Amino acid sequence: MLGNVIHPYRVSSRLDAARSILTMDEPVVRSALVLPILAYHSIDEFGTSISVAPEVFRRQMRWFSVHGWTTLGLGDAANRLRSGGKIPPKSFVLTFDDGMASLLTEAAPVLSEHGFQAATFVVTGLVGREPVWYRMPAPYRTTPLLDRAGLEQLVEMGWELHPHTHDHPVLPHLPLEVQADQIGRCQSLIREWFGQAGGVLAYPFGQLNEDTRRAMKQCEMRAGVTLQFGSRHDPADPYAWPRIGSAWFKRSIFRQRLAVTGWLERYVSMRSLVKKGRERHFLTPTAETTRGLIDVRE
Ligand SMILES: [Zn+2]
Repeated sequence: MLGNVIHPYRVSSRLDAARSILTMDEPVVRSALVLPILAYHSIDEFGTSISVAPEVFRRQMRWFSVHGWTTLGLGDAANRLRSGGKIPPKSFVLTFDDGMASLLTEAAPVLSEHGFQAATFVVTGLVGREPVWYRMPAPYRTTPLLDRAGLEQLVEMGWELHPHTHDHPVLPHLPLEVQADQIGRCQSLIREWFGQAGGVLAYPFGQLNEDTRRAMKQCEMRAGVTLQFGSRHDPADPYAWPRIGSAWFKRSIFRQRLAVTGWLERYVSMRSLVKKGRERHFLTPTAETTRGLIDVRE
C-alpha cells in the first residue's frame, strides 16, 4: 500500500493501468492524496476565459453522475487531505471562485439535480457588487457577485462558503499584517454572517508568498488552494494545493475525463519538461494579474 507516501502515478497493477487506459473512468493515480479539486468561476454564456457555458456545465455534471463520481465537501476534503486520510475512489471537489450571481441561477440547480456538493469563495468586502478585478472591454462581461441574501440561499441549498479575502487584492504585494487582515476579516465575516466554518482560502489570482503562508497560519486556516494545475495534494504543505481550472476541460468531455483521471496532469508535466518555462495558461501570473487585473477575453 502507498500509505502516506506521495507517489502519484503508481498504479496498483499492470492490469489496472491497462484498464485505466481503455476506460479512462477510474483515476490512474492510486495515492490517497490525489483528489481533483475543480476550479470554476462563472457559468454563463458570455464566452470569456472565466465562463463555462450552462449547457457545457450540465453535460459535465451529467458525465460525473453517469460514471459514478461523487463529490466531497471542500471542508471534509481539506481535513482528509491534511491528515492523509482516505479519499474515496471516484470522488472530486467542486469549487467556484468569487461567489458570482450565476452560481445561484445556473450552477446550483444542476448540482441539486445530481446531489453534488460545492463550495464558493467569497470576497466579503464586495458582496453584491461588480468583480472589479476583471478587465472587460465590450462586449465581454460577467455576472455581478452575489449579495448576502444570494449567498444565504446557496447555504440553504447545502453550499459551503470559504474565504477569498476581503477585497481580492494580490496578496504578495501586501505586507504580512495587511495580508493577515484580508484573510482573517473575510473568515470572521463568513462565520458571523452565515454561521459557516470556512477555513479553506482561495488565493486571489492564485498568488501567494512566504508572508501569505505566515498570515494563513496566524489566521488558523486549514488549507489554501491555488490556480496551479494539478490534483496531488501534499498534507505537509496544505497552503499551496493545486486545482484543475475549468479552462482545461471546458471544450470536451474527453479532456474532462483526462483531467479528473490524472492523464491530463501526466501529459502537462511531460510537456512542461519539454517546454520548460514556456507554459502560460489560465490565470498563471502575468503582467496583468500582478497588477491585480485579469483580462477575461478568450
Ligand atoms: Zn477571484
